[in-house]
Amino acid sequence: MAENHSKIIIIGSGPAGFTAALYNARANLKPVIFEGMQPGGQLTITTEVENYPGFENGIQGPELMDVMRKQAHRFGAESVYKEITEVDFSKRPFILKSNDEEYTADAVIVATGASAKLLGLESEQKYMGYGVSACATCDGFFFKNQKVLVVGGGDTAMEEATYLTNHASEVTIIHRREGLRASTIMQDRAKKNPKIKFYLNKVINEVVGVEENGVKKMTGVIVEDTRDHSKEEVKADGLFIGIGHKPNTDIFKGQLEMDDVGYLKVKPESTYTNIEGVFACGDVIDSKYRQAVTAAGTGCMASLDAERWLEAQE
Ligand SMILES: Cc1cc2nc3c(=O)[nH]c(=O)nc-3n(C[C@H](O)[C@H](O)[C@H](O)COP(=O)(O)OP(=O)(O)OC[C@H]3O[C@@H](n4cnc5c(N)ncnc54)[C@H](O)[C@@H]3O)c2cc1C
Repeated sequence: MAENHSKIIIIGSGPAGFTAALYNARANLKPVIFEGMQPGGQLTITTEVENYPGFENGIQGPELMDVMRKQAHRFGAESVYKEITEVDFSKRPFILKSNDEEYTADAVIVATGASAKLLGLESEQKYMGYGVSACATCDGFFFKNQKVLVVGGGDTAMEEATYLTNHASEVTIIHRREGLRASTIMQDRAKKNPKIKFYLNKVINEVVGVEENGVKKMTGVIVEDTRDHSKEEVKADGLFIGIGHKPNTDIFKGQLEMDDVGYLKVKPESTYTNIEGVFACGDVIDSKYRQAVTAAGTGCMASLDAERWLEAQE
């Protein structure tokens, strides 16, 4: 990276960041991608991806991201395996810091994603992609006629559970309290669904499973009753974590406009943020669809918006 200045810096290396990088690289803008703490983004924690167009037989998440990175690098995009810890968008060129190191850019594309909140259990990590998932739209299909659990009591959990009834034979919502946080309409929809059961006042202590011929598979969870602390094993083929998402936007607070949850706001039908020259794409602007292909789509939009904006500056 010459003298730490770039025409375009892309923060984030998921499908949105790599697509933006691919387009900007092919336009000879030599974009620099800061890959952050999760190089390749969220798809690196899953196994089979069957709904990304172009892969008839599906592809493993980490492999898909590796291909996207190589495709962007082929045209001159450069990856820096660091996290941006601070930004100053008050003047141009924009200043971005990775701890003590400073970088400047004429335009910035924010593609930092929104991480699914997890329970924080070691066993949850162990079986992630092997029964445990944080995305029903993505993985529900793998649980045809099987028994699955959804943990959470908010809208995300109700929505995931309702969606999963299209595939699974039985869906049990596990929640730590008696009352649900979800909106009445979402609760009612879930409660009326004959395939959905509720298991309340329970917390998940552990995900359990087996390993056969080197292949892991979850078989259930150990739950603890929050009132009398009794424990039991609940058998299931899958566990969906439905406790919400956190957009990765802490470093932009006070500079980029965001909603109550922290999703960045962009001008309608564009990727323009409230700061001219700073664009945003992918899950960080999208609380609704959250798919690799939609992230790639808005990544393309951000690269074209940035390219045209830079051209107009010259
Ligand atoms: C378990 C699981 C399975 C999924 N399966 C599918 C599927 O089958 N099909 C599908 O379409 N979608 C799936 N999804 C959803 C999909 O992964 C996301 O919609 C997509 O990855 C969003 O892309 P993104 O580029 O916006 O962000 P992300 O993929 O979240 O990437 C964000 C990037 O930003 C970086 N970053 C964050 N903060 C900083 C910082 N301060 N400095 C530098 N870098 C930073 C991170 O390191 C990361 O590289 C799944 C998600 C999960 C969790």
